[in-house]
Amino acid sequence: MAFYIVPDLCKGCGACAGVCPREAIVLLPKRAAIEPVRCDECEECLFVCPNGAITGGLSDAGTGENNTVAAG
Ligand code: SF4
Ligand code: SF4
Repeated sequence: MAFYIVPDLCKGCGACAGVCPREAIVLLPKRAAIEPVRCDECEECLFVCPNGAITGGLSDAGTGENNTVAAG
């Protein structure tokens, strides 16, 4: 499950594209979009978006990879 950008929240500032190490974010005329096949869920883009427009990933239960509850 890749991350994705909520179109209504994105202002197209491009900050996220600048930090994505996998070049998974493409800038469109008025917003950005994430190419799911490239996204590595590194979360870098989450922290730079000033509008909280980037979401998805682990919150959509399914992979179970990083959802294990460790003892203690
Ligand atoms: S989570 Fe990482 S790889 Fe995916 S779009 Fe954001 S910065 Fe790029
Ligand atoms: S940082 Fe946020 S508002 Fe700016 S282009 Fe990326 S998703 Fe859109």
